[in-house]
Amino acid sequence: MTSFGHIIDGREQDSLDGSRFDSIDPWTREPWADLALGGPAEAGLAVAAARRAFDEGPWPRLGYAERGALLHRLADLVEEHADELALADSRDMGKPVADARDKDVPRAARNFRFFADHARLATSEAYPSDTGHHAYARFEPAGVVAAIAPWNFPLMLETWKVAPALAWGNTVVLKPAEDSPASATILARLAIEAGFPPGVFNVVHGYGPASAGEALTTDPRVDRITFTGESGTGRIITAAAARNLTPVSLELGGKGANLVFADADLDNAVDWSIKAIFTNAGQVCLAGSRLFVERPVLEEFTARFVAAAEALVIGDPRDPATQVGPLASETHWRKVSGYLDDPGGKVLTGGRGDGWVIRPTIVSEVPADSPLQCQEVFGPVVTITPFDTEAEAVRAANDSPFGLNAMVFTENLSRAHRVSAALRAGTVWTNCFFVRDLRAPFGGVGDSGWGREGGNFSREFFTEPKAVVMAI
Ligand code: NAD
Repeated sequence: MTSFGHIIDGREQDSLDGSRFDSIDPWTREPWADLALGGPAEAGLAVAAARRAFDEGPWPRLGYAERGALLHRLADLVEEHADELALADSRDMGKPVADARDKDVPRAARNFRFFADHARLATSEAYPSDTGHHAYARFEPAGVVAAIAPWNFPLMLETWKVAPALAWGNTVVLKPAEDSPASATILARLAIEAGFPPGVFNVVHGYGPASAGEALTTDPRVDRITFTGESGTGRIITAAAARNLTPVSLELGGKGANLVFADADLDNAVDWSIKAIFTNAGQVCLAGSRLFVERPVLEEFTARFVAAAEALVIGDPRDPATQVGPLASETHWRKVSGYLDDPGGKVLTGGRGDGWVIRPTIVSEVPADSPLQCQEVFGPVVTITPFDTEAEAVRAANDSPFGLNAMVFTENLSRAHRVSAALRAGTVWTNCFFVRDLRAPFGGVGDSGWGREGGNFSREFFTEPKAVVMAI
């Protein structure tokens, strides 16, 4: 078994009382790693270290170029350790190692490189006034950032928070999800190797409620909380943070609508629709889990979509050919499995596989108010529903408390713009999916979250913009 500790104040360490927990490999269903199990005490130590590093250490006072050089050095090390990081995520939560190696790890490195350069090159606004004054904005680091992460894209989503927080001069305490703790620890080891000062980047392991996670959300020494996870957890964290009026950024759940119009390029639509729901075994906040297809192409699209779903390679995540692995944990498998007990419609393909596998599952004739159509399943299960008019498609897509993202497939340019504008979502992908420009806003509407991250949007959250007003 591989062992991991907390990384606090530049040192890997055990919990104060020696508590440990196992990470279970969802393919073998055996423990593969054991880790220090933290609680409020360890979270407190990590916050104290981050506080000291912010108040007394060099980090917030280094120039953007010097901080940026360290972030680029960390990105180099992430790339050099790609196999180790990819395997850690794969063993922790069952993601195909090829996806982790070829997509998640390169994106993690890119997160550091992008935000290092973005912070260094960002300009601030000046406001020359006609009253004989001159005002300008300074983007000063907010302080100590608590980052609380989910298990579905562990390294990629953690670096999406940690990179901008560090680039703008904050210090960080990261609590990875209890189901996917390993890659965060490897990342923090690499930060030590890269030469980050002690206390700048800390990782504490543990659970959420009454554990390390909750302690981070109630600690008055924390200046920002950035959270990605379930909408229900987001509500709890927001209530906890309200006690200290700590600003919170929330990237929450989704129930992505995917609209395929009759004039779409069907090859392209089938290809992206498969990726949109079956990548990462559907454990994607952005999953296109509600598919709406215009009636004239329903039959053809469905036949091709089902055939493509059945052609996906299911299996051992360590096999480079595998496209769909097991779900991340037994608890999660039970939850997704529960939806299949009574899917509320006609199962065209899919169902339970071996162990914690759910085969790519497509269900038609599902009523609009059924749990499968309304709730975030977070697995490889998609509903397919016909529509007759554009207005009906938009209404159906918007009929959800979630509003993270939507997809539109059409070759009609006017419709592409019109429908993109009408959809209630943080991101609309037209004729594609998952393509990210790190400068663009990322976040959700309604139950999908608060605030936006990416480029200047991350800067707004991770800094305290200050106005300096001078009489001239
Ligand atoms: P989760 O809410 O169960 O847990 C996320 C993290 O919060 C974990 O680290 C957990 O330990 C911690 N946590 C739980 N309760 C807490 C509490 N009371 N106080 C502090 N921390 C607490 O989510 P999950 O199951 O790990 O992740 C899946 C969810 O994440 C899905 O809903 C998915 O849509 C969402 N997600 C959203 C995005 C996005 O960008 N919008 C991205 C990925 C995942």
